[in-house]
This record gives sequence, C-alpha cells and structure tokens, in this order.
Amino acid sequence: MAKSRLYFISARNTKWLYEDSLPGKFERILDNFKFEEYIDKNEWVAVKVHWGSEGAFRPIRPTFIRKTVDRIKAAGGDPFITETVRIPGLDYLHVANYNGISQETCGAPLVLGDGLFGNDNILVDSGSLMGQIAVASVIHDVSAMVLLSHFKGHVQSGFGGALKHLSMGGVSARHRSRKGMGRGAIHMTTPERMSWDSSKCTFCMACVNVCPRSAMRFEGKRLKIDEELCWGCGRCARVCETGALVDPINQDEFQKRLMEGAKAVLSTFQERKIIYINFMLDIQPECDCMPGADVPVAQDIGILLGDDPVAVDQASLDMVNAATPLPDSLASDLDLKPGGKLLTDLHRPDPQVGIDEAAHLGLGRKEYEIITLEDS
Ligand code: SF4
Ligand code: SF4
Repeated sequence: MAKSRLYFISARNTKWLYEDSLPGKFERILDNFKFEEYIDKNEWVAVKVHWGSEGAFRPIRPTFIRKTVDRIKAAGGDPFITETVRIPGLDYLHVANYNGISQETCGAPLVLGDGLFGNDNILVDSGSLMGQIAVASVIHDVSAMVLLSHFKGHVQSGFGGALKHLSMGGVSARHRSRKGMGRGAIHMTTPERMSWDSSKCTFCMACVNVCPRSAMRFEGKRLKIDEELCWGCGRCARVCETGALVDPINQDEFQKRLMEGAKAVLSTFQERKIIYINFMLDIQPECDCMPGADVPVAQDIGILLGDDPVAVDQASLDMVNAATPLPDSLASDLDLKPGGKLLTDLHRPDPQVGIDEAAHLGLGRKEYEIITLEDS
C-alpha cells in the first residue's frame, strides 16, 4: 500500500549552530519542501494558526509563523495569517497581539476568517451526520493554505492536530440566521443539553467566566443557559470542579462530526493546495482555547510536515503516544507509565477513532514514511 511521505525535524539540539537549532532546521525543512508545487505566483495563501487565549500562552511561536510566511513569499505567494472567531473577534485580535502574533512579528497581515462577528461563512455539504456546515468565508474562498497545528491533548477528541484544526478552525463560529450550522453543529452530538445539579453547585462562577459566548448567568440561585447563544463547546462543564455541570456529549459521535467538518473544509480546496505542519512542542493536555495552559505531558518532540492531514496526525499521535510521561504533569497525576499510549491514556476519548474516521471518509492515508532531516 502506498504511504504518505512526511518530513520530520527533531526538537533536540546537540550542536550549537544556528543550522541545527529548531528554527534553523525548520528553515531548512521548509526550503527542502517544494512549496512551489502547491502555491502559484501571486496566489493569496492562508497561514492558518490558532492564536491561543489570554491564559493559554503555548500556541505556536511567532518565529515559526514568520519562517512559514517568508517561505511562502519566496515561493511567489502572498500570505496572510488567519483564524476563525472563538471569542469575540476584536478581543481575539488583541489576544493574538498579546501572544506575539502580529504583522510586525510574523510578516503578514492578520485576517479573521469568518469576520469580526464570526458569522461570515458559506454553507458546504458535510455528510450524513450534519448535512451542511458553515465554512468560514475566507477559508472557503482562498485557494491555498498552510495549516500550522499545535499537536496536543484535547478533552473531547483526545487530541488536537491537523484534522481537528481543519475542522474546528475552518468552520465558522456561527451562521448568521441558521442556528446550529456553525461550530456548534460539531459539538451538539445529542439533543440533550447541559445538565446542572444545584445541590453540587458552589456558585463559584467559573463556568460563567469561562463561557466564550456569555451564554450563562445566575439569576439568584438558578443557572440560566441561553440556548440561542450556547454552541455546546463544553468549557463550562470542563472547569466545573464539583460535577454540578455535566456535558452530555457523545465523544465518538463528536469525533465523527469533527471529521465531517474537516471533509467539508477540504472540499473547498483543490488537490495539493494545503500543506500541513504539526508542532509537537509544548504538548499540553488541553486545547489552546482554554483559559490556561498546564505544563506539558511529554517532552518536546519536533515538527512534522506533509500534504496528507491523516498521515501527519497519525504519525504525530504515534510519536506522542510512544513518549515518556513527564513528572509533575497531568500524566504523572494519572500515574501514566512509559510503554503505554500517552495521549490515548490521558483523556477518555480514543484519538484513533477520529483518525480512523478521517481515513474512512477519504481525507488521507494512515500509512506513512518519515524522512528525518539530519543535522548539518
Ligand atoms: S462551575 Fe460548577 S460549581 Fe461553579 S458555579 Fe458553575 S456549576 Fe456551580
Ligand atoms: S457549552 Fe457552556 S461554555 Fe460553551 S457556549 Fe455553552 S454555555 Fe458557554
């Protein structure tokens, strides 16, 4: 069976030469990869990257974004940096700036893919579970993209990498008039809604404060959730330490919907128009959307590059799963041991379910070969 070819650079740095530093190796791997085969002269190219959050300070570092931007320019493309709305758009632009992602540092303008209000999008057929989904208009209309994904854990899908980034990051926050056609369609796996047990509630307000949609409020001792605003992201239940809030999500279904979303986004591009780069650095347990970032559960591994999102995620998962759990992290809290499957064991959902579904949907191949860039 044919294998997808991936290129890898290790995070280790044993020679004190710029060429062998991680940024230096990243520059070399970008130079070796034929961007010219994916990008036309003067073509607008989206550099899709998660901008983090005010407290989650471990998104991809600006130096790697800058080098990607420079490589696209060298290939003749005209890059811009894009992301879809996760918190109110203007706030998100400020967050990007706090995290060092700006035109000044990264060399290309920042554009919100679904507009300042997160409702600029185009409905695209997705599949049997969701029917249609609202793809961010910029992602829909742009013809070439480089997807820079921070590979890490995720409480709902087991992992976050290229496929999840394509889907959640390519889909718009919400549709202007059709409820449940934006990102919420991926989260809303059951007709049940968030349940709240007042007897377990300490009224700490953590859920209210973490909600990106301002969909929760207390009226006296009653919790009110605005179902029109709520997109089912589950952050409120995630931060509830007493178990008063329970998210009814069906995790296998969530992963399948996630991959339908990725398929919808991919369908707006022609073949060989997206390059995927996974950063296995700062491998924290949870998403960069969360209001904080725990310490990494595995040592920095390196960076993988290729043109197959399934292969790049499968290889990343295999590498992180094989890593040694770090002490003084969530991995050691859970008593994970070397020789297990680190990410798979970290959260309840099995990441392989999503990758298998993506392969089943024809988004790429799970079989890969890795070419490692040697030290200079
Ligand atoms: S986070 Fe949990 S305990 Fe705190 S207010 Fe919300 S429901 Fe109550
Ligand atoms: S699931 Fe919770 S945090 Fe997410 S939008 Fe709904 S109420 Fe807000």
